Formats: sequence, C-alpha cells, structure tokens
Amino acid sequence: MNFKRIRIVLAFLMLVSLSVFARGNFYYHSISIDEIEQSLPAKPIAVGFDVDDTVLFSSPGFYYGFENTDGINGTNKYGKRPLSNDKFWEDMNSQFDKFSIPKESARKVIEMHKNRGDRIYFVTARPETRKEILSKLLKKIFNLPEGSPDTIFSGRTSKGVFIKKHNISLFYGDSDSDISEANEVGIRAIRFLRSVLSTNKSKYHPGMHGEAVLENSEN
Ligand SMILES: [Mg+2]
Repeated sequence: MNFKRIRIVLAFLMLVSLSVFARGNFYYHSISIDEIEQSLPAKPIAVGFDVDDTVLFSSPGFYYGFENTDGINGTNKYGKRPLSNDKFWEDMNSQFDKFSIPKESARKVIEMHKNRGDRIYFVTARPETRKEILSKLLKKIFNLPEGSPDTIFSGRTSKGVFIKKHNISLFYGDSDSDISEANEVGIRAIRFLRSVLSTNKSKYHPGMHGEAVLENSEN
C-alpha cells in the first residue's frame, strides 16, 4: 500500500471515529450471561455492582427529588440543586428506595454469581447518610447469603479504591465512571444499559472504554 492510500484510509478512519464520537455513540460488543460465566476462573471471586440503573431502577426517588413542589410556596423542598442537599440523600437512602424496582437483568447476573459462590459487593456513588435501607433491601431483593457485605457508599471517592480494597475482580455499572474507575485500578468492567425511562443524567456512553455491554440489560 502506498503512502497516499494509507493517508486516505487514515483520514476515513478518523472521520468515522469523529462522527461516532460526535453522536455520543460507540460501537460495542454485547456479552451474554453465559459468556461472562465461561470467562471466569473456576474458583469463586469477588464481584462488584453499581446500584442506580445497574441493579435498581431508582428513578422514582430521584424524579421526586428533582420535580417535587412540596417546599415553601410550591418550591422544591430540596432547593435548586437536590443532589447537593443532604436531606435529599437521607430521604433517598432511607425511604425512596422503597419505590426502586430491581432490574431483571441484574437478578439473572447476580444469580449466576451466587451459584458460583462469588462474594457480591454493591458500590454506589451516593453519599453515606446516617440512616439507609439500601443494604438490607438489596440483600433481601437478591436473596444474598448470610454475611454478605453492606452496601458501600463511595461518595466522592473513586470506586476504584473500594474495588481494590475488597479484591473485586469484575465490576458492573451503567455510568462511564463505573467503567473508567474500575479500569483505572486494572479491573475488568461490564456495562449495564439504562432503562429508556431513567431520569439519570450522569455521563453514559456504552462502549466508550472498549468494555463489553451486557445484552438485554435495560430492564
Ligand atoms: Mg449507576
């Protein structure tokens, strides 16, 4: 191949990648639960799951946080920036998760890991609050064995810190940061798709880090 042809091919590839980037869409490969299982070592491992939009459809609570008019004179009771309001997080973590719906795709993946005897962690970027029902709720919903760890609230700390600390060797999440923070500590991550009804506005570009995407994981 001569230089001219190489230049043309390179320019074409750049155009394709730019247009893909501009749309915010990336080509990715889908992976099934069977394929994940086949890729794992025989002996049990520790796996981690993000919570919002990965194992729970928790938009109802967040929707209320953003859209309520239950404050003074019909204003939002959590102010203009609910995600910066401690009271919102306390209500979210200790009450609103009663309205969060477990994702069926997560149920199936967790079932596969439970059958292998893997230790299951939940790591959410929500801030820690004095009270929370999430730990209990997740253990109950997914029927986790006695002695399973409580949910980790990573807040502003990278999830990578907890992934390393607990020797988690596979992490699942829906947000770009779930994938990048796992990758930063050298850990494989698999993307969950968000439900089309999700109100989540955090960065979401499935496939952008070259990660596999769990098939049929919207719900
Ligand atoms: Mg999430």
